Amino acid sequence: MQTDKLLFTPGPLTTSSAVKTAMLRDVGSRDREFLQIVRDIRERLLAIGGNTGDYECVLMQGSGTFAIESVISSAIPRDGKLLVLVNGAYGRRIAQMARVHGIETEAWDTPENRKVLPEAVAERLAATRGLTHIAVVHCETTTGIVNPVEAIGAVVQRTGAAYIVDAMSSFGAIPLSLAAARIDFLISSANKCIEGVPGFGFVLARRGRLLEAKGRARTLSLDLYAQWAGLEDDGQFRFTPPTHVLLAFHEALLELEAEEGVAGRAARYGANHARLMRGMSELDFEAYLAPEDQSDVITTFRYPQHPGFRFEEFYQRLSDLGFIIYPGKLTAEPCFRIGTIGRLSLPDIDALLTAMRRVLEEMGVMPNKCSAS
Ligand SMILES: *Cc1c(COP(=O)(O)O)cnc(C)c1O
Repeated sequence: MQTDKLLFTPGPLTTSSAVKTAMLRDVGSRDREFLQIVRDIRERLLAIGGNTGDYECVLMQGSGTFAIESVISSAIPRDGKLLVLVNGAYGRRIAQMARVHGIETEAWDTPENRKVLPEAVAERLAATRGLTHIAVVHCETTTGIVNPVEAIGAVVQRTGAAYIVDAMSSFGAIPLSLAAARIDFLISSANKCIEGVPGFGFVLARRGRLLEAKGRARTLSLDLYAQWAGLEDDGQFRFTPPTHVLLAFHEALLELEAEEGVAGRAARYGANHARLMRGMSELDFEAYLAPEDQSDVITTFRYPQHPGFRFEEFYQRLSDLGFIIYPGKLTAEPCFRIGTIGRLSLPDIDALLTAMRRVLEEMGVMPNKCSAS
């Protein structure tokens, strides 16, 4: 079998062969074995969130955005008002989808290279009337910055508004307690730090808030409450479940457990990231974020100053050598990103760094060479 290129991206990711192999089956969507797998997946996800018994897990077909849209379009009442704390493209997307649904929305834009500060949020909340829901992104994959969702949660709780956290690219890799962070709705998906394949997202919802969502949905297929009620009632999805993806995801959860859970995964990602940062600095690449704001999930690097650097060529040459990196998504600066999540280990990071050195040399962009010429 041909070996695939390694994915240094924010998803889909490189997955283990056991996760891929788990998909080589056809199971019935009403079969007892499958329903047991779905049940186990929901329980394990709640456990990762530090379940206190107050939360429910809802699985939702589609990519991660569908699961977020399910929360936004199901939880906020007709007379509700949403504030989105924005420091990147994923926060902006939440505001955009809320407006599509006709929800009264304020997007509060703060700089992309800074964390959302709880004190500033407190001031903003004091100055804004009628908020019923507040949303923030945990790890803003646009840059790789981690927002302090626990401290923001404490501020949000004082207002009585519901707290929505997009933890898409952090859940499973950055320890987080739903209860301690006072989260009402957390959203993530199959193909990020749990290391499954794409096909569904999931929502961990405080039960009381979920029950309030009954009858509020603005769509049929993304109705969060109805989806949960269906799963609770007969264990089934309302519409065709991504059976193969769920089999793979179950295997991925077993692998997470074998890696000693979130702490173990965080340790591997941390080691991979540290190795990447050391190597990139040896290649004279400059990281966009300050080290203390940077996650181990994904890192943004500025383009080198050298006139010979063209990202498309850099990308293509790396791809030809078997390494997929990721373009930038900043509004202002030319940059690219390297993800360090997925089934990657130190030798993979070293191989990427070696390939980068070679490609830079081929492009005539090696820093030490250009200073000599
Ligand atoms: C990946 C991601 C999403 C969802 O993206 P999809 O392409 O819909 O899976 C949302 N928010 C963040 C922070 C992400 O990293």
